[in-house]
Amino acid sequence: MTRRYSALSLFREGLANQTGWEPAWRSPQPRKTYDVIVIGGGGHGLSTVYYLARNHGITNVAVLEKGWIGGGNTGRNTTVVRSNYYYPESVALYGLAHRLYENLSGEINYNVMLSQRGMVTLCHSVAEMEIAARLVNAMQINGTDAELFSVEDVRRVLPNYNFAPDARFPVLGGVWQGRAGTARHDAVAWGYARAASRLGVDIIQNCEITDFIIEGGRCRGVETTRGAIRANRIGMAVAGHSSVLAAKAGFRLPINSYALQACVSEPVKPVLDTVVLSPGTGVYVSQSDKGEIVLGGALDRVPSYGQRGNLPTLESVIAGLLEMFPSFGQLKLMRQWAGIVDVVPDSSPIIGESPLPGLFLNCGWGTGGFKAIPAGGTLLAHLLATGRHHDISRPFDLDRFTTGRLLDEAAGSGIAH
Ligand SMILES: Cc1cc2nc3c(=O)[nH]c(=O)nc-3n(C[C@H](O)[C@H](O)[C@H](O)COP(=O)(O)OP(=O)(O)OC[C@H]3O[C@@H](n4cnc5c(N)ncnc54)[C@H](O)[C@@H]3O)c2cc1C
Repeated sequence: MTRRYSALSLFREGLANQTGWEPAWRSPQPRKTYDVIVIGGGGHGLSTVYYLARNHGITNVAVLEKGWIGGGNTGRNTTVVRSNYYYPESVALYGLAHRLYENLSGEINYNVMLSQRGMVTLCHSVAEMEIAARLVNAMQINGTDAELFSVEDVRRVLPNYNFAPDARFPVLGGVWQGRAGTARHDAVAWGYARAASRLGVDIIQNCEITDFIIEGGRCRGVETTRGAIRANRIGMAVAGHSSVLAAKAGFRLPINSYALQACVSEPVKPVLDTVVLSPGTGVYVSQSDKGEIVLGGALDRVPSYGQRGNLPTLESVIAGLLEMFPSFGQLKLMRQWAGIVDVVPDSSPIIGESPLPGLFLNCGWGTGGFKAIPAGGTLLAHLLATGRHHDISRPFDLDRFTTGRLLDEAAGSGIAH
């Protein structure tokens, strides 16, 4: 039952130091055994346990998080949601996620603040325009709502852009996806957690997995800082630390880990009502609902688990932003942060059973897994419930690195990584 608060009860709650709030999810002690456990309480782990309960009726489930839920990349990302990918396999994956996002607030009764304000990927040269035209054709054939923008179209959606004749990055047009936009990252994590908890799933925080229990060549559970926990099937969605846990399980993944930075300005009145990506400057930018200008760019190019980010990368992102929007030079930078992202050679995720039977993977989303959370959870839940791939996850199995059927989205749709 959802408790309702009147204005008076909210006032009393404030005076009583918020002692009467109903927690959004239960925090039980971990049991010794579950049917399924999922490691990692980010968006992918939380959506997995929600869909296990919701789609498959499996509720003897726990999600185990070493810190607090949503404290990893899910709470550190720049919240862009889009599905304009190139390969049909990717279109199916990100298209599923996009459709699920569009109904998510209603489904889990939690406002994830999806704002479908549209996104434009800018072309700064004739060559980029030609590639964009081919890309839009391919996307439309695959059923994605992509549109080729002329320079006039870009002027319409980006009146503050630097269209001066001597601009260092002139715009010739772009690729537009009208259904793209942003969603509130914390709300996605908290909404899935609350919905899963209400279906009977245990949300266990401050519970770090330190090792795997392997018996008869199969994964039977995990050792944690809160004791051993056993399960029939184990899922792992620990973006940024997949290789660390894979090493404990006795196998290697084709992954390199890097810091990815982002930053926000002080909040200002609405000045930018689309998401902008400029591969030429290496910058993407949007304005949050609070008014902050949110921007990011490329990876810090040195593999690292240092979650700080280096200054030269930040400087180049800000320099690129000011070439495009000189008026933003008046803004003060308020915060900068980084997250560790796991990058796969073909820039597509890995979903499937690991080389250790009983342990299933959802990892390798690189810089773009927030937009995929509802699909990543649906597909890992399907694997954990049935032991078999969903048609959409099959092409993303780890075996593509032995068969050679790679899905190189960096080459296909030009995503940076
Ligand atoms: C700066 C930045 C900007 C980004 N911008 C975007 C964007 O605009 N759009 C987009 O689609 N994607 C974006 N991404 C990528 C996106 O954030 C990630 O792909 C996505 O959040 C991954 O979700 P997850 O649930 O797999 O991982 P996480 O949210 O990182 O969750 C994994 C969890 O596993 C936990 N964990 C790790 N090791 C252990 C252990 N041993 N035991 C227990 N728990 C453990 C961690 O504490 C963490 O909470 C961005 C990433 C960054 C860093």
